[in-house]
Amino acid sequence: MSSQSNKVVAHVPHRFKSGCLAAFRNRLSLRWIRRYALGLGAFGVGLLVGTSAAYADCSRERVTVIGDPDERDRACVALSDVSDYFARAGFQIQFDLTVRFVTQIEVSDLSSVHHDPVSGYYRATNNEIRILHANAPGTSERRPWHLSWDQEIGFSILEHEVVHAAIAHIMGNNYSRLPHAWHEALAYAVQISLMKPELRAQVLANFSAVQAFGSTLEINDVIYAFDPDAFAVAAYKFHVRNSDTEFLKRAINLKFELSDPTEF
Ligand SMILES: [Zn+2]
Repeated sequence: MSSQSNKVVAHVPHRFKSGCLAAFRNRLSLRWIRRYALGLGAFGVGLLVGTSAAYADCSRERVTVIGDPDERDRACVALSDVSDYFARAGFQIQFDLTVRFVTQIEVSDLSSVHHDPVSGYYRATNNEIRILHANAPGTSERRPWHLSWDQEIGFSILEHEVVHAAIAHIMGNNYSRLPHAWHEALAYAVQISLMKPELRAQVLANFSAVQAFGSTLEINDVIYAFDPDAFAVAAYKFHVRNSDTEFLKRAINLKFELSDPTEF
């Protein structure tokens, strides 16, 4: 679409350059309009048809959002927030993704690492995020970081899942080489970085005793499973202490120490 538009825009200055402005205006007569209006109209219709065929949701190719209009808007904002964050680290993301808002997440959908009910997940094999509707049964009982469930927390969890999708896009075939706990550490670190300052302050205040990881060896499934909320805060603090984008780049390039080399 943009290349077609550029051709049209680029053509006009060229016409101006070939003669004086007054002469050009005189030539812009009804005869000219009659001759070109039909062609331009046909081009416009073609452009619209091409646009709807090439672009799906959020004006992004290969993105589909299944939810109500408000959920669709929030998903598009989440995709933009996450792409902007990764762009600052030098990564350009072209999402290939379906975001599906659902009323429940089946236990059979989840990997063996998750034992507690979850609010959303990303699956790399089919590039799909499933995320609970804000009013889904049970959400009111969930208290991530000891906070009551609200739309802002739901949005933040959606951004967490979108970070997983962004990392999958960047890593390609290396995605499964990054251990599960590392995927979670990165997703939480970026999620908390993207929170509104007031929400982030509440999360950090509720876990004020949690320190940044002492070393990357602490990024493992045992520490994650012990307390995912505390793990998330430790990951965020570690991320900030290590000049956030550098930590992201090292992890994505698989340049770190592992507590268990057999995980590769
Ligand atoms: Zn996650």
